[in-house]
Parts: sequence; C-alpha cells; structure tokens
Amino acid sequence: MTDSMTYAAAVLARCDELATFSEEPRRLTRRFATTALWQAGERVRGWMEAAGMVTRRDAIGNLIGRLGDGDRRTLLLGSHLDTVRDAGRYDGMLGVLVAIACVERLRDRGRSLPYALEVLAFADEEGVRFGTGYLGSSVVAGRFDGADLRRRDSAGVTLADAVRAFGGDPDGLTSAGRDPADLIGYYEVHIEQGPALEAAGVPLGVVGAIAGQSRARIAFTGEAGHAGTVPMALRRDALSAAAEFVSAVEAVARAHDDAVATVGELEVQDGASNVVPGRVVLSLDVRHAADAVRESVAAELFDRADAIANARSVVLEWDVVQETCAVDCSTGLTELVAEAVAACGQPVVRLTSGAGHDAVMLSTIAPIAMLFVRCAGGVSHNPAESVTAEDVAAAIDVSTKFLELVG
Ligand SMILES: [Zn+2]
Repeated sequence: MTDSMTYAAAVLARCDELATFSEEPRRLTRRFATTALWQAGERVRGWMEAAGMVTRRDAIGNLIGRLGDGDRRTLLLGSHLDTVRDAGRYDGMLGVLVAIACVERLRDRGRSLPYALEVLAFADEEGVRFGTGYLGSSVVAGRFDGADLRRRDSAGVTLADAVRAFGGDPDGLTSAGRDPADLIGYYEVHIEQGPALEAAGVPLGVVGAIAGQSRARIAFTGEAGHAGTVPMALRRDALSAAAEFVSAVEAVARAHDDAVATVGELEVQDGASNVVPGRVVLSLDVRHAADAVRESVAAELFDRADAIANARSVVLEWDVVQETCAVDCSTGLTELVAEAVAACGQPVVRLTSGAGHDAVMLSTIAPIAMLFVRCAGGVSHNPAESVTAEDVAAAIDVSTKFLELVG
C-alpha cells in the first residue's frame, strides 16, 4: 500500500466514526449547535491535537486547529462538520479530515512549513437549523449579520440562545473576523456533489469558480372553493398557477446553457382533496457561474410568474431571499493546485461549483482555492454519498504537494 493510501484509509474510518454522531437514530443529521455537532467536534479536536495542532473554539463554535507560531502569516484549510437531514458522511467532513491527514503526513515526514497553517471545522454551512447558511464561515470572514441572532429554529430557540448553549458568545460574533493581512489564503477539499468528474473518469477537479445563487419565496393566492360546485371557468386555482410556473422554471433554465433552476418546496396551504387550492407557496433557486445569465433567468421567471398570475386572476408575491454573486477562485492559488495535480500524475480537469461552499465567505477576506473529489453517481445530501480510498489518497497527495508549493 502506498503511503497516501494509509492516510486515506484513516480518513475514511474517521468519516465513518463521525457519522455516528447524529441527532437521529439510524441516520446522519447534525445541525448547528446540537450535542451531536459538539461531540463530532470534540472527536476532531482529539485528532487535531494528536497531529500536533493547538486547538480552540471561536465565538460561534467553529473548531480551529493551528500549527505554527502566532506571528506567521497563515494558510487556512477547512470545511464544515454540520450536515443536512439524512446526510451522507463526506460532504464537509472530508475536507476537514483530508486537511488533518496532510498535517499528520508532513509531521511524519519531518517536514515543517515556512508559514502557519490552520484547519477550520465550521459549525454551520448547510443552514438547516436556522434557515441561513454559512453561519460558521461568516464569523471568520467578519460578515456575520447581528440581526440573525433573533432567528428562531423550528422549536422556537433563538440563534443567540443556541450559540450560548454551544459555549459560544453571541456578542462576539460580529467582531470575530480574521484580519486579511494575516492570511495567505483558504483552501478547501470537498466532494464534487455532481457527476462531471465521474463522467470524465478522473478523481480530482480544480475549481475555477463557484456559481452565484438567486433564491426567492413565491406565493400564488387565488380563492379557495368547493371542488364540486365552483365551475372551472370561475376558478382562481393557486395550484394550477403554481404548476404552470414550475413548468416554466424548467423550460426557461433549459433554454440557457449551464443554467439550473429548481422549485424544491411547494406548499398547498389548507389543502384538501375537495377544496380548490386557495394559496400556494413555493421556493425558487436559480444558479449560474455568470451573474448576468443568472439575473436574466431570474428576471425572465418573474415575468412568467407575473403573466401566469394575471391570466388566472391570482395574486403573485415574489420575495427575494438570497442573491449571491458568483465567486472566482484565486488565479494564483488555483494554478498551484493545478500544478500539484499535474505533479501527482493526475489529469488537470477544471470545473465550476454549482453548490455553495464555505470558500464563498472566505473569499471576502482571502484568496481561495478548491479541490473537488469524485463522488459516486454525483450523489450528495444523501446517505448513499460515497468516495473511494484511491480518490481520497489522490486528494491527500495533491493537497500535501499544494502545501509545499505554497511554501
Ligand atoms: Zn458541503
């Protein structure tokens, strides 16, 4: 077995172990500031300390392991430890554990780096509990929005109370940002969460950009009525309007190269089999690597929704929930990643990330680079998520080489 396969096997065993820290029996669910997340973090803290890192938790409960003196400029590595409901075991965790494996490998080889290195295990990226993502990395980036402290989870617990219960400091969240002058950059390894690498038959991908996102909450309000007595011509059926809109979302996205648009939630309020639907609320998510294309798709969809509502005499509400611009990875760091990939004998495949990552937040304070690892079938946010030891070994090889090139 090659050297890197030994570290890869350890990374996969650790992913398995972390998957046992869950809020729910028999499936992996680990939301922000839960006991399961704390326990997973403490396990990771043990691995960080065994690798020679000094550890701490910051104001929101991100776990940070540091290697190197305080006055040195610092390269940040990391990803997140929180998950969606019924999650896979690699989304997030793989990036944290590959980073720790690189530290262990450098130590085992007797290598030291001419800069400080920190491994960040973010406490919230998915945003499942409080409905807003990147809570962990937004604190590190100094972009935490204090208004979010009043958000409540489904049980009515405020974000402020959750942070306190997690050992954090709600008052310190807006002032805990890192000084960009101290940072060399941020590097994140993540599973691809898509099928491109598998289709290309390669283990790793060099990320050039992360797609922007437009999200909206949309409501069609017509008039509820008796399913047996209201004639078709007199109906103001909110669900029929929504159905027409959902079809338009698919058609408009298909008409723009590389655009993706999704209605992932749809609620028929007070729905019943014998009631003409009076109000439907749905979500819209539009993504593209080019902001202009994403904006024009979103604008076209608004026009379609407006036209559908007018034609059916229903009322349209359109609330923009999120507008995130596409983020370019740093050319300098990304070329070092590509150089490391080539040096390890792997083909250099470049791609855009359709999914958002902690790197989006970190890009506001440091140059960023990302390496994607092939995942079976492109499946993610699903317990069937899977990677191979060989691909993880390749990621460890490339990441170790990258750390040497940065030095
Ligand atoms: Zn992730």
